[in-house]
Amino acid sequence: MNIATKHLNIKHPDIKQLSKQVRFQNHDGTVWFGEQRMLLMQMASLTTFRKEQILTVGLERAKGFFMRLGYSLGQKDAELVKRLAGDIEPEELFRTGFQLDSLKGSVKVEELKLEIDPENQHFYALLNMHDSYEAEMFISQLGLTDGPACWALVGHTSSFASELLGQEIIFKETHCRGCGDQHCLFEGKPATEWEDHQTYRNYFKTAPIIEELYDLQNQVTELRHQVDDTPSLGNLIGKSGAFKQVCRLAKKAATGKVSVLLQGETGVGKELVAKGIHDSSGRSSQPFIAVNCAAIPPDLIEAELFGVEKGAFTGANTSREGRFERAHLGTIFLDEVVELSPRAQATLLRVLQEGELERVGDSQTRTVDVRVIAATNESLAQAVEAGRFRADLYYRLNVYPIDIPPLRQRHEDIPLLTAHFLEKYETLYGKNTLGLSDLATKALLNYDWPGNIRELENIIERGVILAEDSETIDADYLFPSMRQDNNSQVLSKSGTLIDSAPAPEHGATNWTKQALEQFGSLEKIEEALVRFALSEAENNVAEAARMLDITRPTLAYRLKKLNIEVE
Ligand SMILES: [Zn+2]
Repeated sequence: MNIATKHLNIKHPDIKQLSKQVRFQNHDGTVWFGEQRMLLMQMASLTTFRKEQILTVGLERAKGFFMRLGYSLGQKDAELVKRLAGDIEPEELFRTGFQLDSLKGSVKVEELKLEIDPENQHFYALLNMHDSYEAEMFISQLGLTDGPACWALVGHTSSFASELLGQEIIFKETHCRGCGDQHCLFEGKPATEWEDHQTYRNYFKTAPIIEELYDLQNQVTELRHQVDDTPSLGNLIGKSGAFKQVCRLAKKAATGKVSVLLQGETGVGKELVAKGIHDSSGRSSQPFIAVNCAAIPPDLIEAELFGVEKGAFTGANTSREGRFERAHLGTIFLDEVVELSPRAQATLLRVLQEGELERVGDSQTRTVDVRVIAATNESLAQAVEAGRFRADLYYRLNVYPIDIPPLRQRHEDIPLLTAHFLEKYETLYGKNTLGLSDLATKALLNYDWPGNIRELENIIERGVILAEDSETIDADYLFPSMRQDNNSQVLSKSGTLIDSAPAPEHGATNWTKQALEQFGSLEKIEEALVRFALSEAENNVAEAARMLDITRPTLAYRLKKLNIEVE
């Protein structure tokens, strides 16, 4: 390369002389200005780029990018001008720079005022910038902006002046065609003479967005982790560690066909966990059949589970499939599995081992593909020891045990569950209560929950029934004293639960009086009792009738009268 540009000392270089410095080197396809390689590119592309910058990082950051681009260009141009023009008056150096701007096609500078006094560090410039390429970008394609648009030119002029004078000069654009003014007007002064020079300096500093992005990315990862950490399982609700552990185990079980044994006190939500496993498994589109083994008379359980052929026994008038056949390809949930008759236990073992069964009174072997989830609220191991449960079946079921903790061991889930049941029953009863009183909330948290989640649900339902629209649910709505028995707890005046006082001398009169005060009418008391029985019996009308010691038709009649619908 043969471009000697150092200290050419061209006096008052005009645009003609400057343009001689531009070289198009055909042999290697490069363009040079002095010692710097240049690039000719279409302005439209730069406009597109600017538009994308604004859309991607916002106007302020885009402005910063272009001001810094201009700033860097200005430094290079100042160096170039100093080399070309050498030792001339600073005003002349400036004018050379203006010529250079024209040559590069960025702007035509009209000097309105230029005062330079290096000795007194005085500088003042007022420049009319004609045909700014940046204003053009906005006018032609990007649309007018709210503020001055010649960002790169401001950066360029500022750094150019600062480099030439060895003093920090800041230019500002006071009027701009890019925002609808007649001219683009630049005013330049030493930085310290601008009140807001610090704000301006910030534009020239790089503001690495990458740190911010990394930070956000970390936050996202962390949040995602937290979300993953709370594996959702069906309709289960909770956030406690004990709850999460259950969900984790259940989700793992869902991936295969392993038999699962759910152990936990009554009311902890074993059926929901079983349903959750089914829904998370590859069998989710197939049937989920839940059977409460304790609710079926022992002599009927075999026929109920495995099916029956016509005439197998008195009353078997037609052949029908059992629950296992109905659950084919899906999941069967056997609650209170310890209640299975010995014969049913033997058949279940065969289903688990061979995937085969015969209906009662039938010799045909049928193949079933069913995932078994068993549950018990007493220790199966103890039942084996007591000789009530087959050891081989126990081992078969106990391959993947999941212990579901009682509610008293996951107190932090009570508020979530309470909110869920409140919403459920407010919708069901078409009520809008004001939620629980603080005392009621405290009482819920202090209670021991022997009946676990089911008890909590019943209590919230009762609270919703008792509260009027726009009324707060008070503690005594949740824990009415009529429910007291020797083992229960009552609410003390301070809001903590204490063991109930000994029964009053005249027995029943106390609670009947309170019940009447509480409910106001015989019908309301009746409704509360019926709802309670239904809830305890899990909507099994026959069982609820037994609890109330009335016949099923009588209860059905009362349900109709009280307008209670049973699912
Ligand atoms: Zn402008």
